[in-house]
Amino acid sequence: MRVTLTPIHRREHGISGTIAVLQDITEQERLEQSRREFVANVSHELRTPLTTIKSYAEALDEGAMDERELGQRFVGVIRNETERMIRLVTDLLHLSRLDSNQAPLRRQQTNVPEMLEEVADRFSFQMRKKSIRASVRVEDAISTVWLDRDQIDQVLDNLVSNAIKYTLDGGRIEIAARRQEPSSIAISVKDTGIGIPKRDLGRIFDRFYRVDKARSRNMGGTGLGLSIAREIVKAHGGTIALDSELNEGTTVTVVLPLIAGGETS
Ligand code: ADP
Repeated sequence: MRVTLTPIHRREHGISGTIAVLQDITEQERLEQSRREFVANVSHELRTPLTTIKSYAEALDEGAMDERELGQRFVGVIRNETERMIRLVTDLLHLSRLDSNQAPLRRQQTNVPEMLEEVADRFSFQMRKKSIRASVRVEDAISTVWLDRDQIDQVLDNLVSNAIKYTLDGGRIEIAARRQEPSSIAISVKDTGIGIPKRDLGRIFDRFYRVDKARSRNMGGTGLGLSIAREIVKAHGGTIALDSELNEGTTVTVVLPLIAGGETS
């Protein structure tokens, strides 16, 4: 708490009173602290792939290029790291646009069963590679909803790609939608994956927070998928929640208010 005292002067009486301003600086300090953490995280996340790229490029320069197979492997690593950096920068730009409200919603009437079938189709190849079975279940009462299709597709892509990343071969993923009273729709992505320890659940939507940094990086993750999903859902006036049981699976549920055509939020 910061206290600022300002005396009130009156010509004839000298000081006749004092204005006290009480300011809660804990919130300000918290924001400043999280801004500092964010900058440190971004720097670290960019530095890691850059260091890898540099050392593999040096190894190629120092002779690895002469051995065809080794050379190809090293070039592959450089390409993977570069792609991850591009994904990271793209995610950061997206977050910054969401933070500054520069990503206005373009709501359109969207057929929910179709939208969910399409997300399952987009990932069918990846799921088949891991022998993961997928199902899409939509309550009959649900047909079209007004939402920003591109942005909600991004949310669904992030959730389904996480479900695949963190589910072992032979697992199951269920994408479902149901009505939630009084006037919302709940879309959930449920997997039978590795789950998340209880102690991590509270921070899982924080930027760059991962249960296992090395595992996430190896899978090509940026640690920003869930934060982006949360911002997009918030912009729709909705909520996102995650429920998980270690070694059993995770369910992420997005609740979106049903909004009629012309309304903005
Ligand atoms: P990442 O790019 O690391 O996947 P996210 O923001 O999408 O970043 O997710 C943050 C972290 O939450 C992940 O690193 C992982 O530890 C955990 N996580 C997210 N989804 C799941 C899931 N379906 N099952 C288990 N862990 C998950």
